[in-house]
Amino acid sequence: MGIFDRYRPLLDSYQAMRATGIDPLVTMERVLSPTEAIINGRKTLLVGTNNYFGLTFDQECIEAAVEATRAEGTGTTGSRMLNGTYAQHAALERELADFYGMKHCMVTTTGYQANLGIISTLVGEGDYLVIDADSHASIYDACKQTQATIIRFKHNDPASLEARLRRLKDQPGNKLVVVEGIYSMLGDTAPLKAFVDITKRYGGYILVDEAHSLGALGEHGRGLVEEAGVLEQVDFVVGTFSKTLGAVGGFCVSSHDGFEALRVATRAYMFTASLPPAVVASVRAALKVVRRDGAALRARLWENVATLYDGLAAAGFRLGPEHGPVVAVLMPDQTTTIAIWHALLEAGIYVNVAVPPATPGGLCLLRCSLSAAHSRGQLQHVVETLSEVAQRFGVLETARKRAIAG
Ligand code: PMP
Repeated sequence: MGIFDRYRPLLDSYQAMRATGIDPLVTMERVLSPTEAIINGRKTLLVGTNNYFGLTFDQECIEAAVEATRAEGTGTTGSRMLNGTYAQHAALERELADFYGMKHCMVTTTGYQANLGIISTLVGEGDYLVIDADSHASIYDACKQTQATIIRFKHNDPASLEARLRRLKDQPGNKLVVVEGIYSMLGDTAPLKAFVDITKRYGGYILVDEAHSLGALGEHGRGLVEEAGVLEQVDFVVGTFSKTLGAVGGFCVSSHDGFEALRVATRAYMFTASLPPAVVASVRAALKVVRRDGAALRARLWENVATLYDGLAAAGFRLGPEHGPVVAVLMPDQTTTIAIWHALLEAGIYVNVAVPPATPGGLCLLRCSLSAAHSRGQLQHVVETLSEVAQRFGVLETARKRAIAG
């Protein structure tokens, strides 16, 4: 058996799709702004980039990145453990800890590594890692790296979490519950207050991944932990720099005294190069923008959410369960999803195509993500174009019949 044989079915279906002229792996030939790029030679409206505040082209962030590159070079060429901790890394950690009102912060090279490294290090043999069934791949991959026993509970279901923790009540070992603020595929928020109450009642620890909620939720943009009023009860908040903060990288904040031990125990932190100066500088600048202008940016983002979500709902689409910076449009099957996604791209609109196994419950989705940088006109255009394309494929008709039937 050849080393690639196990991937044959995957490769066959990818090649079959490419043979029809559709390649789901797009290349941004030139990025023009937070909301526009050239794809396949065509000016394309971007509605699937997680660029929630549109900060990738923010002048302050760009200037900070350029200045840091000139001053400190293009890369650190080393791990945080060796030569890769610059004063700026430490400053960013202090600023993030301060933003959340927590004592400690650790910055990692990606958000993926923050989850992978920190979750798998926090719990070990004899412990229990209790995760939401719809967790992100980085959380599932942490499960593979820890010796802890993995237990899943039903997505966003406090009763299911409670049943699991009740069963573990008399077991020795730590219990770490992991949930997300906003789920990346359907855009639904966790019932966080209930999760925190239950976890604490059973003596567990709780970690919240705020990848999609930093900036978007909470009076100061601290995410669902702030909006749900549980910032002081949660043990760990994980986040990423690759969405609202417009760069790349990850972090974890906590007020637990032992937290600094993670710096010498987390392999995904220790054995990889640290973030380059440009990224650290632009993230620090972006955090300042969030603190200073967050309320206005958040208001614009949520206006845009309403325009797209309400527009698509009025047109008859089946959508994810609630308003949010991620708007998932439910499609009937994989073939139709990909065909509509492609037709949209040809019409100059880019959204994410999301199909199993990347989606929960075997759903097929066109995943849209909003930005404060979108104009109302751009989003109205998305509603009109998607309606037109979906009509062509009979999707709205099916949704309407389903609504009448049920
Ligand atoms: N957590 C969640 C919920 C995510 O959606 C993502 C990325 N999409 C990550 C973590 C990983 O973050 P990054 O892409 O910045 O590594």
